[in-house]
Amino acid sequence: EILGLLVREYASLSQLEKQYFGFPGEILMRMLKLVILPLIISSMITGVAALDSEVSGRIGLRAVIYYFSTTIIAVILGIVLVTTIKPGVSQTADSIDRAGTTPNVTTVDTLLDLVRNMFPENLVQACFQQNLTKDYTLVGTYSDGINVLGLIVFCVAFGLVIGKMGERGRILLEFFDALNEATMRLVQIIMCYMPLGILFLIAAKIIEVEDWDIFRKMGLYMATVLSGLAIHAIVFLPLIYLALVRKNPYTFALGMAQALVTALMISSSSATLPVTFRCAEENNRIDKRITRFVLPVGATINMDGTALYEAVAAIFIAQLNGLDLDVGKIVTISITATVASIGAAGVPNAGLVTMVIVLTAVGLPASDVTLIVAVDWLIDRFRTMINVLGDAYGAGIVQKLSKRELERMDITSDVDVANP
Ligand code: ASP
Repeated sequence: EILGLLVREYASLSQLEKQYFGFPGEILMRMLKLVILPLIISSMITGVAALDSEVSGRIGLRAVIYYFSTTIIAVILGIVLVTTIKPGVSQTADSIDRAGTTPNVTTVDTLLDLVRNMFPENLVQACFQQNLTKDYTLVGTYSDGINVLGLIVFCVAFGLVIGKMGERGRILLEFFDALNEATMRLVQIIMCYMPLGILFLIAAKIIEVEDWDIFRKMGLYMATVLSGLAIHAIVFLPLIYLALVRKNPYTFALGMAQALVTALMISSSSATLPVTFRCAEENNRIDKRITRFVLPVGATINMDGTALYEAVAAIFIAQLNGLDLDVGKIVTISITATVASIGAAGVPNAGLVTMVIVLTAVGLPASDVTLIVAVDWLIDRFRTMINVLGDAYGAGIVQKLSKRELERMDITSDVDVANP
């Protein structure tokens, strides 16, 4: 930050020079994105194959129940805060400048896209292709060109089949297990470069921001979102963890610190995934059979921060427009905010695009999403951090709830592939 402010103060950089300045940060992003693909494939396949189908089904169910309930809690918290603080009531939509263009998205498109992407028609294409429908690229489940949800569905099916193949399946299982270990070693090397990369990422951003005045205009809205995220992270998630796991939730969160800082810096749950894995397994000692299963899915569909933000932002825009929200509309916002958070990919600003679903569902103009674009680069960082924290707590909780099954498997299996 200080580096950014100093350069900003004493050197007026041209656009090209700014780009050069951000280069070390760009390299960090590229390296993190590079390992996402082998990491997701190897972790999901070994994660599922190492468990028997009944156990993985139960673990999956617990994870989904956790994802769903914490997302709903986040949405309700957001709604309570924004209807109490009323950040949009004293202003009008015209007093805030509109920026950018409106993405072209509808609810049905997004839902269909979500399901369609679960079944990629070509595996190789699923590893790099952009979105299938229309001309927008962020909606659905694509993270940086990877159809994450599609790959997850395939890897779960493939892992289940390998798990059932007995001796013949073992060779594949060992292959993917070795791939996983090798990828994690690469992650370890990338993490040595991380402090430097992050330093330049943040400095370059500070240099780039042009309109500081927008923070004054949007102050109350931002304060509402950020306080909601803080309450969810400091009160609700820890309480749920404490109630179910009975261990200190803040020690757990401290163990995730590096992943949380990464998420804050790069605004992407998917690109943070390698770091999330390392922190969860090494600092918080979560069983690999759980992390391999719960973290990649969580990074794609479990987004508490995004859900809370969707609800607050939609109601803020309604307040700016002087629209009265009855109970029906509030319920619609809760449901669509949840869908929009599941549908958003784990990449920067994805939530901003799926916001359109929430707005159109309550009859607000989709173009009003431009009212909040200017501050999204900042809010996105914080909501991504909460998304990652939610995934991590989820892994801790699912491990605790699945303790008996995991112990039973330790006794019955002769070689434990996931934890050699
Ligand atoms: N950037 C967020 C994430 O990666 C998604 C969003 O835009 O809300 O988790």
